[in-house]
Amino acid sequence: GQPGEVLLEVSGLTKRFGGLVAVSDMSFQLRRGEILGLIGPNGAGKSTCFNLITSVLVPSEGEVRFKGQTITGKPPYAVHKLGLARTFQHPHLFPEMTVLENAALGTYTRTTAGILTAMLGFARGEEQASLVEAYRALERVGLAHLAHQKADGLTVGQLRLLEIARALASNPEVLLLDEPAAGLRAGEKRQFAALIRKLVNEGVTVLLVDHDMELVMGLVDRLVVMHYGEKLAEGTPKEMQNNKKVIEAYLGE
Ligand code: ADP
Ligand code: MG
Repeated sequence: GQPGEVLLEVSGLTKRFGGLVAVSDMSFQLRRGEILGLIGPNGAGKSTCFNLITSVLVPSEGEVRFKGQTITGKPPYAVHKLGLARTFQHPHLFPEMTVLENAALGTYTRTTAGILTAMLGFARGEEQASLVEAYRALERVGLAHLAHQKADGLTVGQLRLLEIARALASNPEVLLLDEPAAGLRAGEKRQFAALIRKLVNEGVTVLLVDHDMELVMGLVDRLVVMHYGEKLAEGTPKEMQNNKKVIEAYLGE
């Protein structure tokens, strides 16, 4: 694909939970090769947006298009298979499994039906292929030397990297990162920023949610700012830092 082409398009996306409108008429585009930040105060609707984009949740209204096709209504594994992978705000890792096995869980949609199949064992050829891809993903994030350790021995920073490796194991075109730098120390945050830049150079397109404004502002090309489920503003980090509505939303938190 061409750099700059629209890869992901969110239009009029709305999600209601009973009387609460968690996401309200959100529209934005993610272009190939960019790092787009999605920011907003706690409860603004960022994680719900991720869940709608990855089809974990069905929208009340609106649509998500990926590479020109509607993904709304497709099951999450089908969306993953098309090249859209995500990390979770609260990583779902298996402490008793090795780092490599945890990373290999990210490849399950490429092979068979689901996470149960992944845990109970792949067909033999698939298992090999899956472990090779998982190892490659660990190399990309710098965790390959820990491949055969149990995940419960990892530091917070290493767990965050493993969560990214698991998402990378399916070789996605788009990576959705939900607060990937939460709990990291300053030095780890700098390494994390360098990793994201490296992945983008390798052709990955990134949608990033994080609360560390210094990290986000230094990393993203553009920002979409959410407030109470709605899109408040959109633009470059510099434009957003000088936007009156954005400043008010953050000061009023
Ligand atoms: P953010 O990630 O920006 O902090 P969320 O998307 O997690 O925000 O939440 C947006 C709003 O939707 C919050 O008010 C939250 O309590 C509510 N919410 C999120 N998920 C659910 C759910 N499954 N059921 C009911 N309310 C939810
Ligand atoms: Mg969230």
